[in-house]
Amino acid sequence: MKTYLSKKASSVSPYTAGEQPKDKKYIKLNTNENPYPPSPKAKAEYDSFAFSDLKLYPDPFAKKLREAIAGAEGVDAENVFCGNGSDEILALCFPAFFDADGKGAAFADITYSFYPVFCDFFGIKKNIVPLEDDFTLSFEKLKGTAAQGVLIANPNAPTGIGIPLPELEAFIAASDRIVILDEAYMPFFGQTAVPLTKKYDNVLVVKTFSKGYSLAGIRCGYAIGCRALIEGLERMRDCFNSYPVDSVCQAVCAAAISDTEYYREKNALVVSERARLSIELEKSGFKVLPSSSNFVFASHQKKSGKEIYEGLKERGVLVRWFNKPKIDSFVRITVGSKEENDGLLNALSDILRF
Ligand SMILES: *Cc1c(COP(=O)(O)O)cnc(C)c1O
Repeated sequence: MKTYLSKKASSVSPYTAGEQPKDKKYIKLNTNENPYPPSPKAKAEYDSFAFSDLKLYPDPFAKKLREAIAGAEGVDAENVFCGNGSDEILALCFPAFFDADGKGAAFADITYSFYPVFCDFFGIKKNIVPLEDDFTLSFEKLKGTAAQGVLIANPNAPTGIGIPLPELEAFIAASDRIVILDEAYMPFFGQTAVPLTKKYDNVLVVKTFSKGYSLAGIRCGYAIGCRALIEGLERMRDCFNSYPVDSVCQAVCAAAISDTEYYREKNALVVSERARLSIELEKSGFKVLPSSSNFVFASHQKKSGKEIYEGLKERGVLVRWFNKPKIDSFVRITVGSKEENDGLLNALSDILRF
């Protein structure tokens, strides 16, 4: 049969998002959403939004939102770029900072699985750096690649492991390549590289409202870097969609990021539940990687990752399992509320009885 698809559309392997099933109510611990609702200030902004204003295009420069982000991050608004989720910003990074006929992008073999998808989509070479046996990233190996630039998720996904800031700074300072830091999980680690963007012109920090601000449904992310890097992203955006951030999103996210106290408190609860969950999992025979994020990555001595994943799903608990070499014995479990985590632990003890 004749195909009307391009060669690219016929051949790419797209990213597989975590399942969002609607068949029944699950304890949903598979896509690293925050268990707590967005801040009451964000809700007030949402509730007072003038519906009729939706007839107008949003501010293409997202000025108020960028100013709110700049205020919260201690940078200037001209150093902030906003996008429809940080996934969109990461996508724009590839054509902005990598040449299709160049030396490509370097990243770990076990990291956010969108990076290789973007490389394939934009025809950018992949320089894959294998993680060490303990799932840490070797900067020596990263330095050893010929790549035009580097992507590091910090804390990493799906391992949860965080790289201390001084180690990162040493790498950035010694490098003349762009270093893109994906800080989606930074609110649960608490040592952002944003201050480095004032010191080095080769570092771009990408963040999101999805995890730490309980706003995964609104689709908003941002990047911080020197003006030249931000301009690169703006140029790519304007080749694709000049209005990626809608008006409701701009208003709600500006209010959210200004409510520092609320999120500090809620994310601290996630961090303390993470500690409890890790200890409980270890008690029941799991090996748990040290997590600096809002999920734990764990493998069991006796049960395979697939068995745990399927057993939990049957019992109404969703976690993420990656059918991938090196990590297929693990499951990634989002840290939920205390009640959700108890539900998970109960389901697990049921599975592990046999
Ligand atoms: C969740 C996640 C993102 C995507 O965030 P959105 O802003 O929701 O698109 C980016 N990077 C990593 C490592 C993530 O886990």
